[in-house]
Amino acid sequence: MTLEQIFNYTKQTGYIYQGSEIYGGLSNTWDYGPLGSLLKQNLKNAFIKRFVTETPYNVLVDTSILLNKSVWEASGHLKGFSDPLTECLNCHTRHRADHLITVKNSDGWDNDKLYNYLVDNNIKCPSCGKSKWHEIRQFNLMFKTNQGVIDDVANTVYLRPETAQGIFINFKNIQRTTRRKIPFGVAQIGKSFRNEITPGNFIFRTREFEQMELEFFCKPGTEIEWFDYWYKEMVTFLLDLGLSKENIGSHEHSKEELSHYSNKTIDILYRYPWGFDELWGIASRTDFDLSAHQELSGENFEYLDPETNERYIPYVVEPSLGVERLLLAILKEGIKTETLEDGSTREVLKIIPALAPYKVAVLPLIKNKHQDKANEVYNKLAKHFSCVYDETQNIGRRYRRQDQIGTPYCVTIDHDTLIDGTVTLRERDSMEQKRLTIDKVIKFVSEKIKF
Ligand code: ATP
Repeated sequence: MTLEQIFNYTKQTGYIYQGSEIYGGLSNTWDYGPLGSLLKQNLKNAFIKRFVTETPYNVLVDTSILLNKSVWEASGHLKGFSDPLTECLNCHTRHRADHLITVKNSDGWDNDKLYNYLVDNNIKCPSCGKSKWHEIRQFNLMFKTNQGVIDDVANTVYLRPETAQGIFINFKNIQRTTRRKIPFGVAQIGKSFRNEITPGNFIFRTREFEQMELEFFCKPGTEIEWFDYWYKEMVTFLLDLGLSKENIGSHEHSKEELSHYSNKTIDILYRYPWGFDELWGIASRTDFDLSAHQELSGENFEYLDPETNERYIPYVVEPSLGVERLLLAILKEGIKTETLEDGSTREVLKIIPALAPYKVAVLPLIKNKHQDKANEVYNKLAKHFSCVYDETQNIGRRYRRQDQIGTPYCVTIDHDTLIDGTVTLRERDSMEQKRLTIDKVIKFVSEKIKF
């Protein structure tokens, strides 16, 4: 499955459209169509179920995208959230310097070392093929805007580059109002913005994206145990969503790669069309964030352990996942072209029923004869799960269309339905058909779409 095939599939089916298309587009922005938005929603629901409502540990919040500037000062983003930027002196395209090379430097790269490497090794510009580079400087990835009517520095605000800080600054509020004891976690799903130097690979790296993050607060000294616990949960989640084991990899950060505040970080990788790349990161962040906010805000972030009477600033384990990167992995894994027994081919999206945008397609066999009954069935089923109604073209074509967009079940209303109330239920993967009453369809499908 190449990236181009996935791109064409999403465009053709209405999963994803180019952003601002009628005005020539806005580079690297994407709009999620009726199918894409439901798939996204189902991924988020699965995350909430697994990492919030099913665990005894975690709660969910929804904090602002715009935060007080001091948040980004304390977190280090204003100073340090940057990537190395260079420019091709021939064609004037700008590039992220560390993405121009594939080698890793065991001592880590600084800007001078990176620049020397580009020059000494005659690294070519991906756009024009020449090798003339501007010296490297750090480029801050935060999007700036103004709050209020006056456009000056005092009113500068930033769009959040991660959802995590909204959790840290509310740590006291959440702990007090939920009366949680350590260990507990706080999850959040929401948009983040990064002015990436080189976005690309379709929806993999964009400037506006959604994150599903968990900040898990625990007692210092227990963080590696919890890290291992959540890491296992993350891998299980991905496998349960239908990603296969051989397409999942991992990369543990070496000492040189670790951020200064982290004592363990692993990237969970997925085998994208261009190779293994980061899908989900998990970092043990120590007490860096809470301590930094305590220092700058003056708020006391110490936790008093009611059992031992110990006071400490909790340590944090943070799994952080991009919704779009997960969606891309799900599509890459699921889109298949199959040759059937009669030699014909069908395109089918094999995703688990829980993720399918529509669980059931309701199809009247003959439009004029079975339409009313089909509408009645649709209304009944739609109270239980997401359905779609389709009465155009012959039934074989309608099955193919539903296969292509991943609908796991089709329900056909025919002459017998009018007599005995039974319908034909067809399964997407096996293409097998069976006769059931509507009540049995509801029971059967409800069971299958559980996650
Ligand atoms: P990368 O190395 O790919 O730039 P990162 O290590 O900076 O990613 P984190 O800051 O750990 O990423 O962000 C957590 C998660 O958010 C990533 O694992 C990824 O799933 C998602 N993410 C980060 N940046 C982007 C982006 N520009 N577009 C889409 N998803 C992103």
